[in-house]
Amino acid sequence: MAVDNEMPAQATSAQAASGIRPAAASPLQHGNGVVAPVKPRAIVLFGSPGSGKGTQSRYLVEWLHIPQISTGDMLRDHIRRGDDIGIAITDRMRAGSLVRDELVNELVRERIAQPDCDNGFILDGYPRTPAQAEEMLRLVASRGAEEVVIHLVVDYNVIISRMTGRRVCPKCGTLYNSVSRPPKIEGICDLDGTPLVVRDDDREEVVRRRLAEYERQTQPLIDFFRATSKRLIEVDASHDKPEEVFRRIRATLENVSGK
Ligand SMILES: [Zn+2]
Repeated sequence: MAVDNEMPAQATSAQAASGIRPAAASPLQHGNGVVAPVKPRAIVLFGSPGSGKGTQSRYLVEWLHIPQISTGDMLRDHIRRGDDIGIAITDRMRAGSLVRDELVNELVRERIAQPDCDNGFILDGYPRTPAQAEEMLRLVASRGAEEVVIHLVVDYNVIISRMTGRRVCPKCGTLYNSVSRPPKIEGICDLDGTPLVVRDDDREEVVRRRLAEYERQTQPLIDFFRATSKRLIEVDASHDKPEEVFRRIRATLENVSGK
């Protein structure tokens, strides 16, 4: 498995922070030259809008050198190519229906059979329903891999203030944030003096609606994995910088048992 062995000393605080109880020994034994066999991992990342999921996903790809598999991208690819699958998807969407679970499951099954997934993979946008989640566990097991579900837990009030604090310069596109990156003069672009505006996506009612939609769709999946998976890692992503959140995810992943 493409895991390097830095930072093992961080494990203890990370375990405490993430609330997960690892098995007694790390699957990656340091120092004695023996590396126990580790199954490839299918990492599923859940995080609300504003939770930093995209950033954590990028960090994981860089660290583990495994592909990120986006079912949304795969579906859009088929639509663009206009092949049989693409036509089936377009028909469903025209009828106002969701893409069928079986179709998505099949796409994932084919994709993870590729050799670049031998050392593991990250699933993005899948599973989206409990039925897909059940099938995912079967697919992952039949691939000889094991699932690790990472849930970025956030305080919605923090997310709302973070997202609604965003301002953009309509002239040059520079982004500001009233908390983390305020302009020198409130409401004015540093570069060209243009009054800043709130993007539609960052208005509070839009943010609240997106969070409610995320919650509605994701909570049943989190409940499913809480009940069925030994490897659900819940990490607080509200308060720390993304690098610190990743440090905890990484330390925990280095210590989650393969059993
Ligand atoms: Zn500007």
